[in-house]
Amino acid sequence: MITMEERKAAVFQIQSLGFIAMGDRVVVEEDKFRSGYECRTCDGEEKVSCPKCDGRGVSTVGGVCKVCDGSKQTVCPACNGKGASIVVPQNAQMRPTSGTVVSAGKDCAELIEGDRVIYARFAGNIFGLEYDEDGERKKIVLNVLHEKEILSKITGGLAYSKMAQPIVRQ
Ligand SMILES: [Zn+2]
Ligand SMILES: [Zn+2]
Repeated sequence: MITMEERKAAVFQIQSLGFIAMGDRVVVEEDKFRSGYECRTCDGEEKVSCPKCDGRGVSTVGGVCKVCDGSKQTVCPACNGKGASIVVPQNAQMRPTSGTVVSAGKDCAELIEGDRVIYARFAGNIFGLEYDEDGERKKIVLNVLHEKEILSKITGGLAYSKMAQPIVRQ
């Protein structure tokens, strides 16, 4: 059996950046915000695989693809890069209040990495991270909270996605 002293928080790694929850805190990767009006072509990603180079970033005659400039992606033609059929104003958008624990501090009594959780709308400290991976722009939102701020563990998710709650997203 592992005692509290022996328990170590997992490192959540994004490229060279690592997050390790301290004390009774947890680091939660928030679920993606979904309004339900996401563009069906790009699924809200605002970009699609470049049609000219088939997402390879290089032209068929060699050299960088001139259409996507080597980025492998172009603005979604169906939604014109808006990502949704109905655009929710930034300040009216809502952040999800659910996510997955990616690092649990050594003093956490109940939560461990991998637990799905919900928390109050303004709980914790939010860190929005953008980074490039294989030439693609990725976004991730982390929330650092005390274990006691977690309202509940959850299982499944089908019903919960319909209850998604709003807040500002950068
Ligand atoms: Zn291209
Ligand atoms: Zn689209």
